[in-house]
Amino acid sequence: MLTEAAAEMLDWHGSGMSVMEMSHRGKEFTSIIGQAEADLRELLAVPSDYRILFMQGGALAENAIVPMNLLGNRHEADYVVTGAWSIKSQKEARKYCSVNIAASSEADGFRAIPPQDTWRLSKNPAYVHICTNETIHGVEYFWTPDLKSAGLPDTPLVADVSSHILSRPMDVSKFDVMYGGAQKNIGPAGLTLVIVREALLGRALPVCPSAFDWKTVAEAHSMYNTPPTYAIYIAGLVFRWIKGQGGLAAIEQRNKAKAETLYRCLDESDFYRTQVAPACRSRMNVPFFLADERLNEPFLDGARERGLLQLKGHKLVGGMRASIYNAMPLAGVQALVDYLREFERSHG
Ligand SMILES: *Cc1c(COP(=O)(O)O)cnc(C)c1O
Repeated sequence: MLTEAAAEMLDWHGSGMSVMEMSHRGKEFTSIIGQAEADLRELLAVPSDYRILFMQGGALAENAIVPMNLLGNRHEADYVVTGAWSIKSQKEARKYCSVNIAASSEADGFRAIPPQDTWRLSKNPAYVHICTNETIHGVEYFWTPDLKSAGLPDTPLVADVSSHILSRPMDVSKFDVMYGGAQKNIGPAGLTLVIVREALLGRALPVCPSAFDWKTVAEAHSMYNTPPTYAIYIAGLVFRWIKGQGGLAAIEQRNKAKAETLYRCLDESDFYRTQVAPACRSRMNVPFFLADERLNEPFLDGARERGLLQLKGHKLVGGMRASIYNAMPLAGVQALVDYLREFERSHG
């Protein structure tokens, strides 16, 4: 896929132009963004009453854009806090409204997702926000909250899906808004995806910047301002690659096999440990620890020598973290597992 992008970098499909040189309103780029949107809609089976928006600002900007677009005349929103990213989301929202923390796993070190029957939702929140894959703490939702059963049939469910979108099929119709930065599982940084139920458009607060008003962006087909054209083009190639792999069901099988291989190796050994409850273990981000943390540096040095990179854990959690996004093949995980065993044999 990157080879294809490299080959057509200077001249896209005989147009005589690089994608970077195209007018975003020209017929060439219009076809690129149109195809990308159609392929994404097909991959995720996005229902026809949802709009797909290609935006900028990353997931962190959406943390402000969400309340600005959904509060309307309400003053409270509910957040479920399951790790570092949902902490950031609720903190940003406090600039715009009061926040009710419906549930938090902080006291437990973010090792598990609080079951919905423990959530203390408020009576009439503008929306309920979750982060469906906590990239830093490595917890992932394998179920979808049901606000109807909680007595909130009209309350939008909003999810930050940055770090596991397109890692498996997801039922978009069970959410009202999904958003994520593209740089984890899709493509280059600079592109933010928003999938929003059409009925929610048109509620933005007057202070909301026009470029961040979902209705304005939707009406302009993501061209209210110049979109991140090259990032959209690469994302489009990724969508096509996923289709070629057999779609999200096939990608899920691969991701499952990768995660099972790695967790099994970690579980089998006392030399390594993991913290996250088995039912919430992320298939994308796997934090783990060496039982003897004095071996962290030698572990990372040996890994680097073998071309196993970016294993150092996030500073908030410490230890190690393997991020095994869609682009990581099973062979890459296998190479890590071989190294884990070898390092244990020589240092255990
Ligand atoms: C990386 C990440 C973010 C931050 O996204 P930006 O695009 O850098 O703003 C937010 N949420 C989650 C879950 C992430 O993984």
